[in-house]
Amino acid sequence: MITIRELRKDYGAFTAVQDISLETQAGEVFGLLGPNGAGKSTTIGCLSGLITPSSGEIMVAGHNLATAPRDAKRSLGVVPQDLAIYEDLPAAENLRYWGAAYGLRGVGLRDRVAEVLDVIGLADRAGDKPREFSGGMKRRLNFGCGIVHAPQVLLLDEPTVGVDPQSRERLFDMVRAQTARGATVLYTTHHMEEAETLCDRIAIVDKGRKIAEGTLEELRTEVGERDVITLSGRFDQEAVEVALSEIGQADTVEILQIDATRLTIETRDGPSRLAGLLDALGRNGNSAAETLVRRPNLESLFLKLTGTELRA
Ligand code: ADP
Repeated sequence: MITIRELRKDYGAFTAVQDISLETQAGEVFGLLGPNGAGKSTTIGCLSGLITPSSGEIMVAGHNLATAPRDAKRSLGVVPQDLAIYEDLPAAENLRYWGAAYGLRGVGLRDRVAEVLDVIGLADRAGDKPREFSGGMKRRLNFGCGIVHAPQVLLLDEPTVGVDPQSRERLFDMVRAQTARGATVLYTTHHMEEAETLCDRIAIVDKGRKIAEGTLEELRTEVGERDVITLSGRFDQEAVEVALSEIGQADTVEILQIDATRLTIETRDGPSRLAGLLDALGRNGNSAAETLVRRPNLESLFLKLTGTELRA
């Protein structure tokens, strides 16, 4: 749906985006995760046609953005980081404006505006002006303006900035509804948790370059870190070791800490090994009442790849 080949954007001697290539599929949320200044907005700007790349090629829904910009842009919906709504125009009129800009007319436009008001949870505020809205409601309307024409490709640039947790959940649902109807969503964020929760695939960017790409599972594997499982209950070291060798895990599971009431181990694929592990422990006279599995996350991957914190 989106194909970016070797995208580069220079501002004078400064390179904001360098050699970024990626490809998104229909029906997926593709995350662009990176700290502030990584080049995410510049990439979105190039995709939406607002910024002219220094080099590289961009295809949107099969159309080359440079040679067939009208076709490419017709397939695109953009939800910019800075709100693109008219504060003094009623919510429904904002949607009508954007729908008309994308060529919707008459009954089609009217029906679609009503539909989108419903989707963004503002049907009962259709006649009210955004000036009176909360930050979350404005963000929802901003989102609505980007989807009025039901685009195949939706670009979301940090859409949760300044949004309360409840509106954030609602926004996530709205994003998922877009992929459910077959659209592809490119979602930029500097929040690892958002990428982990929402995105089917993630590209991690830093200093204008893509430094990793994959599903959350693939990226976790790349971290090379292992899951840490903490069990509370009753344990005996010898019996635990017998249990591990019984299930052939003596070499793959490392005991980090053990005492009579707590056992902490490190292993790959913790969640999938947990049931077998508990079973074997139980057979050997141990018992676990509570379990906690901590998985490696994107923060640890970013740290490993760049030596700096994602949150910095
Ligand atoms: P992000 O969206 O990941 O926070 P941006 O794409 O906004 O990052 O910015 C990437 C880098 O490019 C930053 O260092 C920023 O200061 C720089 N930059 C962005 N726009 C311009 C511009 N118009 N002129 C010069 N530098 C810019």
